[in-house]
Amino acid sequence: MSTPLPWPAIHATHGGIWIATPDGAVRSVGRGEAIALAAETPAVLLNAPVTATRLGYGELSGLDLLELFAFVHPARFVVPTPAGMARALGLEPPADDAAAAPFLLRAAAALLDRLGDAGWAEREGGWTAAQAMFRLRWPWAAAVAERIDRPERAERWLFSKLPEWEEAAPRPQPRPLVLADAETDDALARLVGSGAEPREGQRLYAEAAARVFDPRRAEGRPNMLLAEAGTGIGKTLGYLAPASLWAAEAGGTVWVSTYTKALQRQLDRETARIFPHPADRARRVVVRKGRENYLCLLNLEDALQGGFQGRAAILAQLVARWAAYSRDGDMVGGDLPGWLVTLFRRAGSTALTDRRGECVYAGCPHYRKCFIERSARAAEGADLVIANHALVMILATRRREEGLPLARMVFDEGHHLFDAADSTFATALTGQETIELRRWIVGPEGKSRGRRRGLSARLSDVASYDEEGALAIDAAVEAASALPADGWLGRLGEGLPLGPVERLLAAVRDTVYARASAADAGYGLETEAAELDPALIDAAAPAARALEALVRPLARLRQRLEGLLEDGPDWLDGPARARIEGAVAGLSNRGQLLAAWVALLARIGGPVDPDYVDWLAVDRIEGREFDIGLHRHWLDPTRPLAETVLKPAHGVLVTSATLRGGEDWAAAEARTGAVHLDQAVPRFEAPSPFDYAARAEVLIVTDLKRGDLAGLGLAYARLIQAAGGGTLGLFTAIQRLKAVHARIADRLAREGLPLYAQHVDPIDTGTLVDIFRDDRRASLLGTDALRDGVDVPGASLRLVVMEGVPWPRPTVLHAARRAAGGGSAHDDRVVRARLAQAFGRLIRRADDRGAFVLLSAATPSRLLDAFPAGVPVRRLTLDEAVAHVAALNASAPANPVGAFSPQQVSGISMEPEGDVGTE
Ligand code: SF4
Repeated sequence: MSTPLPWPAIHATHGGIWIATPDGAVRSVGRGEAIALAAETPAVLLNAPVTATRLGYGELSGLDLLELFAFVHPARFVVPTPAGMARALGLEPPADDAAAAPFLLRAAAALLDRLGDAGWAEREGGWTAAQAMFRLRWPWAAAVAERIDRPERAERWLFSKLPEWEEAAPRPQPRPLVLADAETDDALARLVGSGAEPREGQRLYAEAAARVFDPRRAEGRPNMLLAEAGTGIGKTLGYLAPASLWAAEAGGTVWVSTYTKALQRQLDRETARIFPHPADRARRVVVRKGRENYLCLLNLEDALQGGFQGRAAILAQLVARWAAYSRDGDMVGGDLPGWLVTLFRRAGSTALTDRRGECVYAGCPHYRKCFIERSARAAEGADLVIANHALVMILATRRREEGLPLARMVFDEGHHLFDAADSTFATALTGQETIELRRWIVGPEGKSRGRRRGLSARLSDVASYDEEGALAIDAAVEAASALPADGWLGRLGEGLPLGPVERLLAAVRDTVYARASAADAGYGLETEAAELDPALIDAAAPAARALEALVRPLARLRQRLEGLLEDGPDWLDGPARARIEGAVAGLSNRGQLLAAWVALLARIGGPVDPDYVDWLAVDRIEGREFDIGLHRHWLDPTRPLAETVLKPAHGVLVTSATLRGGEDWAAAEARTGAVHLDQAVPRFEAPSPFDYAARAEVLIVTDLKRGDLAGLGLAYARLIQAAGGGTLGLFTAIQRLKAVHARIADRLAREGLPLYAQHVDPIDTGTLVDIFRDDRRASLLGTDALRDGVDVPGASLRLVVMEGVPWPRPTVLHAARRAAGGGSAHDDRVVRARLAQAFGRLIRRADDRGAFVLLSAATPSRLLDAFPAGVPVRRLTLDEAVAHVAALNASAPANPVGAFSPQQVSGISMEPEGDVGTE
């Protein structure tokens, strides 16, 4: 039995505020009283930033239960709500909001009790961390430190505890082989398991997918397959079966690429069926992300040794606890709880990753334990590498240049290939990009602190042994002084730019404000790079000269370094060689970037290149500028995709539940780059086995006036009430989302229907989805990321409401593609794909059911073929739609309206174990 804790607890929702005191009393209080209490005594809270938002008191701090959880159980999953915490701790969940306040005290006591438990799994490092956090005045530190016994022997320091990665010999080429259909069928049967129903569509899909692993017949002609497999076919196991079989038999690697983190996590889990033994799985399946996702141990060490102050220093301690127990050191979407960095209002979290290419490679004392290096090496020897589209495209492009192309790839969520290629092959010459380059070359300047070092510090040994190299470094540092420096945005605002590139950006800014329409007040502004003013044209030439002046010394330095690697002088030991190889790769990337910028500037005032779309932009959030510059995108980004990723490959599967987006196959060929290959690309199609006509309906509300915000809010509130929560609300504009949320959140909360929202709640999107999935009475409002990436099977999602037809934003890029793609037919294609995606959130399993509501009378009938054939589509009034949704809700099993947070879903991770019903 735990000792009662001496603190009060505060629980605040949109529906009210409750205080529990140590004597067991609970009362509902007003904001003033809660704020006064929190100001005078430490109080136990669950998620201080969220509680602060509910109280309207930004300064709120206290004893945050989530911080305590992160200390006691680093790298463990918990849904950050009272019910989620209860489940993670094996406690009875609170029955309602009032009961949640005393529950917080019980949960705190339970967590503190674990510190004295002999079986506490994460004990190692706890005592040392508690001492450090005591010195940092972490609010929990005294209570924690007094409960952890001092270890008899000094605890291992994180950096000695982590394992070292091993260098391995390069893998030989995979053996050419052809998988027989029977072999593929057997592999699939093993993965699906004996209890599962045989699915003909899945078997045929797997056999078709196996053909991409056949030996390639001609260079530049990959075995490519476009495969649309409707939701419920079991697509992921359908391709994992032949991919894993081929990898094992041929001794090769298959890269499996997704667009969303949700699918990446699902794939990672599904591979446990292929490799049930964890050690075997860890060796043969690697999740690979961009290096900016991983914890940099050197940055962490700096932060722990005084580089971070105040709250950021406490975050660093909690991250260090996590790093010792993390599976792979992935801070974004891995096993670091997404809510942890938001508790610290993101203070310091980005400085713990290697975001700016400041890695010193073998010059780093933690190089042999580095999470990033380990993941990159593990991928070389793995059977399956799970990655995202952007990273696969970047690596494929790089590897092609090195003569080692990525040979076999599966692009799942293939309907996003176009968008991923669009951003990957784009160029942005902006203030933020150029200042990053300056910092990479020059290092910290003025008052800036931190470990970041410039080229001369990183290559100090080269500079001391190689005079030519030293001269090139000096010349690069001097040329970089022409790039924007700290304070550039302020100087542009005051009309006082410094140097040729800042002057260019100032001219860009003037042009944008002169020409852009301010319809989207407070957000991004842009204008086409056409008929430009002489002032901008005049500013482009000196900026281009400044960039060219930088290209030369960087290229010279790269040549010197390559020469050193070839000559191998005496002083070039293993670590120095690895560091120089890293520098060569960095210089090569920056050289390409500079070349792209110079080409973009050459276009200013010159002839239009029909392959590209160029524009000028001022990026803003709520009226605050954060970047300014020029942008260039390919009109058709699948052209570089085909040249650099598809043609060098041996086998490529592009698959999705909505690959065609409601169009014909020609649309899929155009959007995947298949159209640019010198061969016909085979197609496979398997319709979804779900009975959409019986399990879903589309309701188009006809009596809501466009622009009527009050009416829009009311419509959302009534529909959510009718559904008893379980609603995903999708918006195309953040302002409308915020306005609707502000109008209805309190009212719904008072009825026991919590409403969460992207861009409103200080919670990351992944955690918002976890909370939504975990509570079938919760609803979630959001924008594009939720339309595409939410996978919530079961009753937690039973209603999708879209505020209107998701027309594309009228950007410069969109206008150019619209003109090239058949005008309104292009718009229709975009809308169909978005409607299909949004509808796809609704029915994830054969037994799901729900309604899809479009709050726009002006929905053209020609777009309705975006929905699966047979789904009834009704145009009706809001009253009728509400009645439909209420009837649907009443017929749903076990949906007790009026109860608080019933925990209908069990288990910690609510995502499906299998691929049944998921894309
Ligand atoms: S090798 Fe680079 S990324 Fe890894 S810990 Fe060291 S500095 Fe950080």
